[in-house]
Amino acid sequence: MVLTTESLSDAHRRKWGGSSADVKVYRAPGRVNLIGEHTDYTEGFVLPIALDLTCYVTRSKNASGELRVVSENNGQERRWPSSALPVVQPMGDWSDYIVGVAKELFRAGYPVEPANLRVHSTIPLGAGLSSSAALEVATALALLDGRAIPALDLIQLCRRAENRFVGTPCGVMDQYVCVKAEAGTALEIDCRTLESQVVRLPEDLAIVTVNSMVRHELGQSAYRTRVAECAEARDKLGVRSLRDARMEQVDELVGVIQQRARHVVSENGRVKAFLQAESSAAMGALCYESHASLRDDFGVSCGELDALVEMARGIEGVYGARMTGGGFGGCTVNLMRPGAVAGFEARMRAGYRARFGVDPAISICVPSAGAGRQA
Ligand code: ADP
Ligand code: MG
Repeated sequence: MVLTTESLSDAHRRKWGGSSADVKVYRAPGRVNLIGEHTDYTEGFVLPIALDLTCYVTRSKNASGELRVVSENNGQERRWPSSALPVVQPMGDWSDYIVGVAKELFRAGYPVEPANLRVHSTIPLGAGLSSSAALEVATALALLDGRAIPALDLIQLCRRAENRFVGTPCGVMDQYVCVKAEAGTALEIDCRTLESQVVRLPEDLAIVTVNSMVRHELGQSAYRTRVAECAEARDKLGVRSLRDARMEQVDELVGVIQQRARHVVSENGRVKAFLQAESSAAMGALCYESHASLRDDFGVSCGELDALVEMARGIEGVYGARMTGGGFGGCTVNLMRPGAVAGFEARMRAGYRARFGVDPAISICVPSAGAGRQA
């Protein structure tokens, strides 16, 4: 869903005043990961696409020395003297993403000028489609306001904001694809070298997300636990990261640590197999395998996600499905024939409502371009 510059600028001026010539619009996309889940923080491989769901941050000058921000999505407003941003402490809410980015900009030599910001995102918040990285990147661009920055610096700076200030030990995938995606393609990212290549997708492939509409509390703490478990497996194996582990080595581990390592090593293999797959059906089969691995070995699925994947499996024209994002709720990603989408939507909606009593949000993905200024 694309919001026009005019409507965003009007809404900005209703809130903050000024003329339309004063308002600039910056945008950053959400993303869905096709395969390579929970592999970025162990320096592995991932294959996301950027979405046409977008976080917009509009910006105008502020004459009173403050950084002010309002979010359309939650109706909340915050303000700080901009010179005090480097010493603001985390609040444990959405404003941490804004302040975290501002602090990292100061640290990187891009002091933050007073400004009025308005955030309006069409990405569902907390659904595994990375509204957080989109908020970071769009905020960084709005605060930079045209000052040039190397893409990798922008990516790393936004990731550091989330790691250090928000306190989520996320890998680099979300910020990377948000900045560097190209329209119409997926992006294979090597999370060690930070190199990437654009990947063309088959013509006959529709990518559809189904939002379970749940977010289990366990998710936050489990993410941290998984990061720690992967580090433990790495240390036991004496490798630089799980990226370097071979399956024969994993076989020597025991218990939960072995399961976690087995997921990461097998998942990296599935990314490579996906890239070499000769048919959409073969890609889909790898998605089902990825889901089973995330459910059984990595332990990050939940009843709703498992049910969505099983429902998809029974539908004509569907090649594959898996949970996507951190897990414990959020979305599944489904690969299918374009002609199968309408039937898929109807059956998934009816099936999920019958079983869980809620309407799942279903959306067809348009592989979109990375972040930038919207003219
Ligand atoms: P995801 O990135 O998958 O959407 P996260 O839990 O990582 O889920 O990030 C969601 C959080 O990001 C929200 O709870 C909120 O704090 C913040 N956020 C993202 N977009 C916005 C927005 N437009 N307005 C306010 N907060 C936002
Ligand atoms: Mg996030």
